[in-house]
Amino acid sequence: MKNEENEKSYLHPARRVQGIKPSSVFQLLQKAEVLKKRGRDIVSLSIGEPEWDTFDSIKSAGIKAIQDGYTKYTPAAGREDLRHLLSQQAAKDLGIPLRPENVTISAGCKYALFSVFQCFCDPGDEMILPAPYWVSYPNIVELCETKCKIVPTDEASGFKITAHQLEKVLTDKTKVFLLNSPNNPTSAVYSAEELKALGEVLKSHPHVLLVTDDIYNRIVFEGELAPHILNLCPFLKNRTFAINGGSKSYLMTGWRIAWIVGPEHGIKLLTSFQSQTISCAHSISQKALEDSLPASEEYLIKFREKLRGLRDHFFDQVNQIPGLKPYPSEGGFYLWVNMKDLIGRKFNNEPITSSLSLMEKLLEEADLLCLSGESFGMGGYLRFNYAVKPESLNKAAKRLSQFVSKLT
Ligand code: PLP
Repeated sequence: MKNEENEKSYLHPARRVQGIKPSSVFQLLQKAEVLKKRGRDIVSLSIGEPEWDTFDSIKSAGIKAIQDGYTKYTPAAGREDLRHLLSQQAAKDLGIPLRPENVTISAGCKYALFSVFQCFCDPGDEMILPAPYWVSYPNIVELCETKCKIVPTDEASGFKITAHQLEKVLTDKTKVFLLNSPNNPTSAVYSAEELKALGEVLKSHPHVLLVTDDIYNRIVFEGELAPHILNLCPFLKNRTFAINGGSKSYLMTGWRIAWIVGPEHGIKLLTSFQSQTISCAHSISQKALEDSLPASEEYLIKFREKLRGLRDHFFDQVNQIPGLKPYPSEGGFYLWVNMKDLIGRKFNNEPITSSLSLMEKLLEEADLLCLSGESFGMGGYLRFNYAVKPESLNKAAKRLSQFVSKLT
């Protein structure tokens, strides 16, 4: 104890990290691992990661990249050929002309977002964030001492920020508007009309940067690509950073690879920042993606079809459980479920007081791990990752249903 106190007096954290907390998702996973080690058969539908391995096309390209010696530093902005390939892909996706100079390769979308906020947000600036949101955004933004202005959405708008809401919250202090479609946790996809309306609002606020987190843009169930605001409002291109990566569409979570597309001078700054922080993204991941991108399309199509079946099946199962209301999942691989009707009900005489308390009870009593809406800035909901084997989904639905049937 004394030692710990001694250490604390030396290790006084810097102001900008004083509010930082460990990722709640990783903490929960650790708890589930402990329970598993004690012999419990935990079904985990929590972390945002498909259960399957990276596509074979990418795995073999990675092995070849190691054998061929692509194991050294790359340029800070990434391999030239990969930047070229991704600029062509992004030009098609976003509907604007792009060159390799408009792209910098980064070490995962989380780091890409961190870089953008570090490079463009000052203390006292504000970032507009619609809720529910991906758990890490507020923490990443707070590291710049920038204020997160959270805008709650609701069921009526499909959990999407409306043009009217955006107009009302923009001020002179607003530095960034952050848009995530398909959305984590709701799996909602903004329509072309909704994006156009948001773009029109931004038109009269030229000081606002737009950051789009497009990590799920290829995992959609209508068409092959989610609509993008730049496609509809190309006038925003000089102040937009579009962030995408390999983690979700190409099942490359552990490879840590992403890319930022934006105006050339902004990309130069982001590249300098990267060169002074992590030097460059992982060389093997870069070469593997470069060599397998066209071949991986075929795998992606099959992956999407597999997800469609799992999504429909799990939705139907949860929809039959009294007191739970799932929303249609339009993109990504999450089922967002309203559990408010269960608040006040009791399990073994203990009341369910919130979605957090329900999540904890499901883990303790039903060996089922999901995430509660509180982590995403909106209590009253649960999020389930359905990118798992059908057997796991069946088990999860059965446990959920049995648990709810025991409530008094
Ligand atoms: N953005 C969103 C919306 C996510 O859901 C995730 C991961 O769950 C990330 C970013 C981070 O992705 P990466 O693995 O590329 O850092």
